[in-house]
Amino acid sequence: MVSYKELGLVNTREMFAKAINGGYAIPAFNFNNMEQLQAIIKASAETKSPVILQVSKGARNYANQTLLRYMAQGAVEYAKELGWEHPQICLHLDHGDTFELCKSCVDFGFSSVMIDGSSLPYEENIALTKKVVEYAHQYDVTVEAELGVLAGVEDDVQAEESHYTKPEEVIDFATRTGCDSLAISIGTSHGAYKFKPEQCTRDPKTGKLVPPPLAFDVLDAVMEKLPGFPIVLHGSSSVPQEYVDTINAHGGKLPDAVGIPEEQLRKAAKSAVCKINIDSDSRLAFTAAVRKVFDEKPGEFDPRKYCGPARDEMTKLYKHKIIEVLGSNGKAE
Ligand SMILES: [Zn+2]
Repeated sequence: MVSYKELGLVNTREMFAKAINGGYAIPAFNFNNMEQLQAIIKASAETKSPVILQVSKGARNYANQTLLRYMAQGAVEYAKELGWEHPQICLHLDHGDTFELCKSCVDFGFSSVMIDGSSLPYEENIALTKKVVEYAHQYDVTVEAELGVLAGVEDDVQAEESHYTKPEEVIDFATRTGCDSLAISIGTSHGAYKFKPEQCTRDPKTGKLVPPPLAFDVLDAVMEKLPGFPIVLHGSSSVPQEYVDTINAHGGKLPDAVGIPEEQLRKAAKSAVCKINIDSDSRLAFTAAVRKVFDEKPGEFDPRKYCGPARDEMTKLYKHKIIEVLGSNGKAE
């Protein structure tokens, strides 16, 4: 058993409370490797933004859980080295699907876990979430739960259709489970293909897809039922067109990739939405930079020469999200 407190990490309780009161959101960036982690920490340290390092079940299998724990511990020390005196860094399990996985993460130094029972019948979701909360809270680890179903594909999570969260269920769910935050479905979606072309309209000038707007009426109804309760948005990448274009111009094939417009996320961040998950955008930044080097310098075979530019591009992306979209800069001096 390793407590996250020994690693210098924090849970989400205080950062969420401040974010709701301050009208901004905390970035939750997924990571799988060293370069992503370096970029996240550099961007957060330079902007003094609290940050959630997010690890999916797939990432945990990919990177190894022991290595991950020390990477998170190293991230705290690296942040201090960069001049961030009091780093506010949370290590969070994204989409935990069993009690055992959540328990294992709590035991291994995570400061926050998500139990995703959203595909289960309502009562089973409650029972599973409650069990995880009871375990995690013994160690002061915070728990995110989910109600409603997001469409799209992300690692092991996959759903054809989205089902908006039912506002009439949230009080009962939050009260009976004791969860610390709630992921809701209001039209965001996992992956780089968030919407099918037939769900979108096309910009007559550029021919690019314009996605349908988020269901802010559902968000408003949830906030009315649970005033001041931390709300989480998954699948909130914006799929920047310049990355998609760079990838496609250098041998890639991502036709009609489409995300959530940043304008809508900016609006959400000002509400009780206090955690916004971004994964695909970082994957796109990484891939665009690597493809460009491979295409322009076919003789290059030093991984630092293509992972380095990828890391710089991701740092730029994370800083943009923190400053221009979520507004979390300067919130953790
Ligand atoms: Zn998700």
